[in-house]
Amino acid sequence: MREHKLSFFDERTAPIDAIIIHSSAFAADKAIKTYEQAEVSAHYIIDLNGQIIRLVDEDKRAWHAGKSFWQGRTGLNNNSVGIEVCNLSLGQKAYDKRQIFALLRLCKHLMKKYHINKENVLGHSDIAPSRKADPGACFPWQYLAQHGIGVWYDLRDCQQVKETDEKKLLSAIGYDITDLTAAKWAFCRHYMPQIVPVDEDVRHLIEHPYPADFSFNSDDYLQILQAVAYKMKKI
Ligand SMILES: [Zn+2]
Repeated sequence: MREHKLSFFDERTAPIDAIIIHSSAFAADKAIKTYEQAEVSAHYIIDLNGQIIRLVDEDKRAWHAGKSFWQGRTGLNNNSVGIEVCNLSLGQKAYDKRQIFALLRLCKHLMKKYHINKENVLGHSDIAPSRKADPGACFPWQYLAQHGIGVWYDLRDCQQVKETDEKKLLSAIGYDITDLTAAKWAFCRHYMPQIVPVDEDVRHLIEHPYPADFSFNSDDYLQILQAVAYKMKKI
């Protein structure tokens, strides 16, 4: 595996139990230059051709998540491995198959090594919905879940869930609902990508990860919320 060591990390104070997936809007060499300028990092970056580059040793705390929240926990750099996957549209257009195969192998290896539950493989937008849109609506969560990485839903499970309050369901899944619109966007990018519009201006998307006026137009939204909450074993 290629290495390009970054010096932006510190010591973990919690064991690894999660994987956070990001996308970078550049090819790896340029992305690494931007990390060096911004003094941030991740543990791995997967280039456009599927090549994996190690940036920070797994036992160190890399600086990729920023202000983050999931299921009551904050500061997810501390307990996670951060993986960047290069995608010039920030995940709004398909990833290369070679990248996804490389990511699949890497995640399987990490999940086995650190006993990471599949529920704890998350996207940056899941844990920082008001600030981040990556890894984007074209990230293949459903495909990865079929291989035991992350969770997907079975719509029939909604019958098992009595809760119908949108906020309570999003919160039960793990989202920070301080900004409800942002949390809804993050949920849809992950579980209902077909209804998320593409922002052709990637720079705009980076600065404005979600429009304030998003109106949901799907009869399935509540049922999918319920089914995901059920799969997350949180309701
Ligand atoms: Zn990110």
